[in-house]
Amino acid sequence: MVPKSSKIKHNNSSVNTIINGILAGEKLSIAKGISLVENNHRDKSDLISSIFSNIGKAYRIGITGPPGVGKSTLTLQLAKCFRSKDETIGIIAADPTSSFTGGALLGDRIRMNELFNDNDVFIRSMATRGSLGGLADSATEAGDILDASGKSIIFFETVGTGQSELDIAEACDTVVLVLAPDLGDGIQALKAGFMEIADIIIINKSDREGAERTEVELQTALALREYNEWQIPVLQTSAINNEGIEQTVETIERHLSYLKVNKNLENNRAEQLTRRVRSIIRNLLNEAFWTDERLADLDKIQNVKSGSNRSPYMIAQKIIGDFIRH
Ligand code: GDP
Repeated sequence: MVPKSSKIKHNNSSVNTIINGILAGEKLSIAKGISLVENNHRDKSDLISSIFSNIGKAYRIGITGPPGVGKSTLTLQLAKCFRSKDETIGIIAADPTSSFTGGALLGDRIRMNELFNDNDVFIRSMATRGSLGGLADSATEAGDILDASGKSIIFFETVGTGQSELDIAEACDTVVLVLAPDLGDGIQALKAGFMEIADIIIINKSDREGAERTEVELQTALALREYNEWQIPVLQTSAINNEGIEQTVETIERHLSYLKVNKNLENNRAEQLTRRVRSIIRNLLNEAFWTDERLADLDKIQNVKSGSNRSPYMIAQKIIGDFIRH
């Protein structure tokens, strides 16, 4: 069942204040706007529709991979590097194990303070469990808010294990898959599809033994693939030592140029929009069904008797049939 939109009252003027604040790049309004989409607030469709004409300028980068490989550390280093090129940054961590929330980065956080205190950097962890509107939709809409607020680069950090995470990565322009040396089973744990959507593969923790071997293994696996114009680069980084970061940024920029030249950026974004429309239709229909007063009249669901020989499919089909006919 789709949870009903949260009913916390937000009058129009406060939503308008949030919208204007987002467009002016104010951190507090950005934070409030993201909470609105995260809570599936009933005003969220107005919010997204109001800012939509300001969306599309940001470049969205997915940083994905198994837990512990150094995604958060790498993201912060990449953010610092892009920042030194005058880009403005948004970071959405849709990762339950993310160090942005977990505190494992506390030591690093002191070094990273300049980033955390920078007005042109916005970092937010999203609730991943029980996310009311669906994690992928919420994360993408949080990206819309950051985009409309003027951030030029938006990172989405996710673990590479679930369908929602795959959906988030698919909503990005460039997907960076982060691995670590001798991951072994860690690679097995990656959900099918992640290797396929990676545009760039990073072997982080290159300061550890086995990085060369892992790179050779990956290059060999990639060589077996069908020929594609974009040859997936495999790079080594040591995020904690700030090594390989500039090369990674250059590779990300090279991928963006490739996307632009080939019109892939436009085409990918058109496909992403279609997927979003489908998802919204699914959610709206679901919500319309479960909140329709006729459902209560019919009292159908409660009348399902155990022991009857009708299958759950037969019962569901009958209820939907009655619903459509009424
Ligand atoms: P995430 O779960 O993928 O986001 O990984 P984190 O960024 O939280 O990093 C997990 C641990 O690996 C932390 O203790 C980091 O300090 C450490 N780490 C991150 N990058 C490197 C690296 O390049 N080399 C080594 N040796 N450790 C790293």
